Amino acid sequence: MTTCLTSHRAHDFAALMAAWHRVARAARLHSIILGHAEGLPVVAFETKTAAQGEPAAYLSTGVHGDEAAPPWGLLTWAEQNIERLRTEPFLIAPCLNPVGLIRNTRVDQRGIDLNRRFHLTRDPLIKAWQQWIKPKTLRFGLCLHEDYDAQGCYLYELSHQKRPLSEPVMEAVAAIIPPDLRGTIEGSKAKRGIIRRKVLPEGLLGPEAIVLHKLGCPVTFTFETPSEFALDHRIHAQRTCIEATTEHLAILRS
Ligand SMILES: [Zn+2]
Repeated sequence: MTTCLTSHRAHDFAALMAAWHRVARAARLHSIILGHAEGLPVVAFETKTAAQGEPAAYLSTGVHGDEAAPPWGLLTWAEQNIERLRTEPFLIAPCLNPVGLIRNTRVDQRGIDLNRRFHLTRDPLIKAWQQWIKPKTLRFGLCLHEDYDAQGCYLYELSHQKRPLSEPVMEAVAAIIPPDLRGTIEGSKAKRGIIRRKVLPEGLLGPEAIVLHKLGCPVTFTFETPSEFALDHRIHAQRTCIEATTEHLAILRS
């Protein structure tokens, strides 16, 4: 089963979640309601083995509603990996900002950029998210985004590993959309679309990947596709990134 997408449906939250509930039934996922946004549920899923406490991979999209490709890329990957979802440990946040997706806005219904808030437990949604994530052991985290200024795909890698882990992922993605080859991206030094961070940027407390890191997640990737490229290619690149990351980081399974 694969959901077909035409561009006018890219911001159709109901269609996105209807497809996710079909995946959840087929893969026997547990669903968790993290909160509501103007009456719409903010849903998270966990696989059976993740619910049983096995160290899990965390996959997240839809933090910024004007970035349409990542939610559909993650859905497409899930639709094509039902058997893995039945047996392997995954925690999945398929759309953390539903109103933003519907309105095609970066911010949520309160005008807030959620990706500056993941450290703030006074935010009810973030409090529920932290209550969900904190008891889990994470193998790695993948946060999926898009960037209007990007000239290709790029990826922030945050880990204590000596060697970069994201090179094979960016190689796989390059077959769909080449990497952004700028030497500096968003103020950070980049090499063939990879920005490595072993030390946390000062004063930047709220991004999801940084909070995951602080909660003990050993490796986080934040992957970005270029918003100005064709939607189908961006969705394909997002799906390929998830495929390659879950394959190459399987070594972190222990
Ligand atoms: Zn974003």
